Amino acid sequence: MEKREFRAESKRLLDLMINSIYTHKEIFLRELISNSSDAIDKLYYKSLTDKSLDFNKKDFYIDISIDKNNRTLSILDTGIGMTKDELEENLGVIAKSGSFAFKNENRSIEDIDIIGQFGVGFYSAFMVADTVTVISKALGSDDAYKWKSSGADGYTIEKADKDTIGTEIILNIKSNTEDEYYDDFLDEYNIRNIIKRYSDFIRYPIKMELTKSKLKEGSQDEFEEYKEEETINSMVPIWRKNKNELTDEDYENFYQEKHYGFDKPLRSIHLSMDGLISYNSILFIPSKAPYDFYTKEYEKGLELYSSGVLIMEKCPELIPDYFSFVKGVVDSEDLSLNISREILQHDRQLKLIAKKIEEKIKDELKLMLEKDREKYEEFYNNFGNQLKYGIYSDFGIHKEVLQDLLMFYSSKEKKMITLKEYVENMPEDQKYIYYATGDSIDRIDKLPQTELVKDKGYEILYFVEDIDEFAIKMLMKYEDKEFKSVSSGDLGLETDEDKEKEKAEIEENKDLFSAMKSLLEGKVVDVRPSKRLKNHPVCLSSEGELSIEMEKVLNMMPD
Ligand code: ADP
Ligand code: MG
Repeated sequence: MEKREFRAESKRLLDLMINSIYTHKEIFLRELISNSSDAIDKLYYKSLTDKSLDFNKKDFYIDISIDKNNRTLSILDTGIGMTKDELEENLGVIAKSGSFAFKNENRSIEDIDIIGQFGVGFYSAFMVADTVTVISKALGSDDAYKWKSSGADGYTIEKADKDTIGTEIILNIKSNTEDEYYDDFLDEYNIRNIIKRYSDFIRYPIKMELTKSKLKEGSQDEFEEYKEEETINSMVPIWRKNKNELTDEDYENFYQEKHYGFDKPLRSIHLSMDGLISYNSILFIPSKAPYDFYTKEYEKGLELYSSGVLIMEKCPELIPDYFSFVKGVVDSEDLSLNISREILQHDRQLKLIAKKIEEKIKDELKLMLEKDREKYEEFYNNFGNQLKYGIYSDFGIHKEVLQDLLMFYSSKEKKMITLKEYVENMPEDQKYIYYATGDSIDRIDKLPQTELVKDKGYEILYFVEDIDEFAIKMLMKYEDKEFKSVSSGDLGLETDEDKEKEKAEIEENKDLFSAMKSLLEGKVVDVRPSKRLKNHPVCLSSEGELSIEMEKVLNMMPD
């Protein structure tokens, strides 16, 4: 049998590549800059082992320039460059990654942090350019070469002039069409924003000449334009810095720069994890809920970076719903990305990271509760309901995480207390955790149903939010103590003797009660004497699982 190789129709493959793997055209710049950064990395790694190479950190940079008249956008780097063969191999063969090979050949270098791996990113340039020209001079080579292609038609290679080692990529930006406004890629400030968004933490300076204006000399109102070179990227992300070198203000600035909120964060958490999967992360607990927090429009998620390159602006898998208020970033070198580098190949790594993040947030909140009660109450005011929704919506599966973070107003303490504090204060003969529901603390305080329990010297938790009782029903118990509404039929306070007496009383006054019941026909199910009342002649109560308050909430919900 003869074994044959697959052949690919490269034109069609290229077309597929260019038009279907990326969701945003603007990522071509992220891809080209990442390649430049990889090329500089390679030169840098070489200079570590080859002492005959004498390089200075300041010789490493990436330069972006725009020529509006000629409709070109150029990306120049001072990286390792490509020989004629390498141009053929790396740019002429789809899915051939010189960077992937480099990583394999240099396994001995620790901390190698090269971005490229799939050998397709380069072609994303054809999303915005009709012609791409690459002029490159490789390290150790006397000649420079020019590779040029208009996409599907193939490419040409010829000798070129270039003095310095490195690569320049020149994109001839497409003309505008009805649907696409390509001129955006010739706009200085737009390009600058794209760099900031995706490549802010590339480790080498990305320079660009920007047009600015200033007052003309001697003039009060006439301006003149001038050009000034700027380094666009911040290079070292704050999450890679050492915690000890950072101040609260640094974290606050980062929070604001990232537009996580207009408030100051209540808490910043900085994680640097090494191990099965290494990552750095900065998490924030905001001090105020965003205006859309309790609406459907709110999207949770953390920013996800892979080796300093932005992959996703809001990765929802990193954060559980009940902590959806948390903002921040995660950066890892160990993610397996899919080919477009926009989604992940496996979620196992994400799950590991998410689990750690959840633990960390829980620990921080607990710590805040113990050490800084006032701050915690501020947090709880804003986000307490989210914790309760969390317990309710997943049927209490995460109660271990959440139950100790809950707080309710106490009839005795006249302030917010935790369930733990409630149970610790319980007299020995008290069986249940009592609660009362209502619109406000004041109104609950006046409820006739609370009298008997208070009289016994027992504490009552006041539930003023609709969600409270629903969440508690999911918990069922706290430290083996069941929750009991003060309006429920059996409060667990009556002795057998009391119950006998009540029975007898019902028997005696049968006619009176049935007369009252028929008067209230359709409004109540039964009328009975009660032992709970002291200062009030009558009260409403419910039987079974649902309290009156819960029934009210359920009745208000759309079917
Ligand atoms: P990847 O970056 O995933 O390897 P690309 O399609 O982006 O794939 O690039 C293909 C290869 O071309 C790279 O692996 C690298 O070997 C080479 N290359 C691309 N751009 C440059 C550059 N600016 N300098 C040196 N080599 C480059
Ligand atoms: Mg690449």
